[in-house]
Amino acid sequence: MQRNNKEFLFQNLKILDGVGVKISKYLKKKNIEQIVDLLWNFPYSNTDRSNLVKINELEIGKICTIKIIPEKYNFPRIRNLPKKVIARDETGVIDLIFFNSYETYIKKILPINKTVIISGKINYYKKRYQIVNPAYITEEKNLDYVRQDIPKYSLTEGINEKIYRKIISQVLERLPSFDEWLDKEILDQNNFDGWKNSLTFIHKNTKEKLDLNSNQYKRLVFDEILANSINLLLNKKKFKIKKKPKSFSLNLQNTLLSKLKFELTADQKNVINEINSDLKSPFKMFRLLQGDVGSGKTIVAILAALNVVEAGYQAAFMAPTEILAKQHFNLFKSLSKEMSIKSELITGKTPTATKKGIYEKIANGEINLIFGTHALFQSKTIFKKLGLAVIDEQHKFGVKQRREFSNKGGANCDIVLMSATPIPRTMMMSMYGDLDVSRIISKPSNRKNILTLGKVSSKIKEIYQLIQKKINTNEQVFWVCPLIEESKKIDHQSVKVRFDHLNKIFKNEVGVIHGAMSPEDKNTVLLNFLTKKIKVLVSTTVIEVGIDFPDATLIIIEDAHKFGLAQLHQLRGRVGRGDKESICILLFKNDLSENAKKRISILKESNDGFYIAEKDLHLRGYGDLIGFKQSGEKIFKLADPNIHESLFKQNEQYIKLLEKKRDDLDKFNDLLKIFKKSEVLK
Ligand code: ADP
Ligand code: MG
Repeated sequence: MQRNNKEFLFQNLKILDGVGVKISKYLKKKNIEQIVDLLWNFPYSNTDRSNLVKINELEIGKICTIKIIPEKYNFPRIRNLPKKVIARDETGVIDLIFFNSYETYIKKILPINKTVIISGKINYYKKRYQIVNPAYITEEKNLDYVRQDIPKYSLTEGINEKIYRKIISQVLERLPSFDEWLDKEILDQNNFDGWKNSLTFIHKNTKEKLDLNSNQYKRLVFDEILANSINLLLNKKKFKIKKKPKSFSLNLQNTLLSKLKFELTADQKNVINEINSDLKSPFKMFRLLQGDVGSGKTIVAILAALNVVEAGYQAAFMAPTEILAKQHFNLFKSLSKEMSIKSELITGKTPTATKKGIYEKIANGEINLIFGTHALFQSKTIFKKLGLAVIDEQHKFGVKQRREFSNKGGANCDIVLMSATPIPRTMMMSMYGDLDVSRIISKPSNRKNILTLGKVSSKIKEIYQLIQKKINTNEQVFWVCPLIEESKKIDHQSVKVRFDHLNKIFKNEVGVIHGAMSPEDKNTVLLNFLTKKIKVLVSTTVIEVGIDFPDATLIIIEDAHKFGLAQLHQLRGRVGRGDKESICILLFKNDLSENAKKRISILKESNDGFYIAEKDLHLRGYGDLIGFKQSGEKIFKLADPNIHESLFKQNEQYIKLLEKKRDDLDKFNDLLKIFKKSEVLK
């Protein structure tokens, strides 16, 4: 056998002794296909078989190891009845019971009058000790192999302890060594051992519970976080493409600022400065602008677009829906009246002939600024000189899609992605390490706080009165029903039932919208709401977050316990966008549980999406975080930001250092391979 064969880890399981078609099928169900995949399937507990006792010392219910001599077979003539072997030692008698075993097999492993080692759980039946299907039956010489503290793995159906033990011990025996990829300071600071030692330790020394805080486990957690960040950093470096710097002197920006009825917030100013310096830099910008709903991202993006136009380029502003694209377009129109900038809107509704004309003007450079849906970017629209693409409400993207975005528009096209999905600080680097990130945290100062209340649904009549008041004062109401993930049908039923109900009470004032409707139908309903033909909108969570409904001042969220905090916060952000006092009512079926109260108090306490996301993470664990679900990626197998927060922080600092030093990242190649993050290397 080759020594220190690194490739061993990446071979198929089938090369291991004892792994045939059947076992590899079972393991595949757990996504274990290569040998390396077995490494992360840690023992979750142990089975202590070290207790070697005489029969008269047996304890019922305990796992014991005993040395016995088979005395007599008792095999019933009727099939399916259990087979029995009576055995003894010098202190007593015990029955060994077998279901589904062949006589010949039993006779072979339990020969009469020969000492054997048995290990299993002791039962007591009809005044006799018994072990049913003992886990181990083996020759005396194997005593030491059995009489041990044996790690317990969550076994897939069909793989017993003995077989899994055989498989994993081969892997641990042949585990290759790698040159250490962690810096000495990091190792020292955390008391980390090497990769191989840590891994071996965890597999061989688990007691009652896997310790997620042991130095050995934490070493591997750090490796995993690091592998993820290095991968993102490599992506970032790879996509740092040279471009022509844009030059402008803020003429258009200042003109527009002078027309605004408000002052930019400090964060908005910082962000526009960050973006401007990226526009002027000799590298293509690829930046995420993160800001809570209503934090004022749109105006920042418009200012950036103006600077790009001043620099002699075109800019494209993309939104996920037509309504939102139109809202952005109208906003720009109203702000840019006296500027000589040619802007247009393209949506699915634009008549073909008009569209054709617009495409021509985009191609010949007559149009400076084009608004449209994301499709505009994906289609084969030809720009004369595209210098900036702004992609609004882009929260459903993973690393791969981002990479595709960054490739669009040519080298001279800078890119700004905007997202309102709140991400806890701990996770920023892990999720967006391949991007530059700007954040708007403070809200415009004229924002009224949103009054947040929890109510039991038996008090629903009070809410109807409130809705009636809102209708009387020409304000508007959202009513959100929970999305039932298991069934789209039921989902819409709950919305429809609520709609029918409300529609009876508030005749001709209520509309309904849900995910199964066609885009055109949705559009019509949203327009009716925007133009205030209807005052109450019943919906699932599908309603757009980006649209400004300045007169919407009440939102009711039904079955609020079904939503995550971050999502509740996003929903709440649909009201309170104007200058009127707004209310958010969280409706619960039953009395409020402790957890529900805690959640309401967090929402009451803060209107800061980042803070709430952090709390959400603590309350629910990271698997449920809204951002993860949306991007559909589970980033970590071992690391948990709730448990290993300080390792995440350490990693962040380390990555920043690596980025600054422009160090050679080759020493992480093995690490990336082990965590299957090496696609960039290719
Ligand atoms: P989002 O970040 O959710 O996209 P918008 O850009 O739609 O938020 O802004 C929400 C509202 O806040 C808009 O009506 C916008 O005109 C207004 N706004 C933006 N910046 C400020 C500010 N600095 N002061 C007051 N109002 C602002
Ligand atoms: Mg927006």
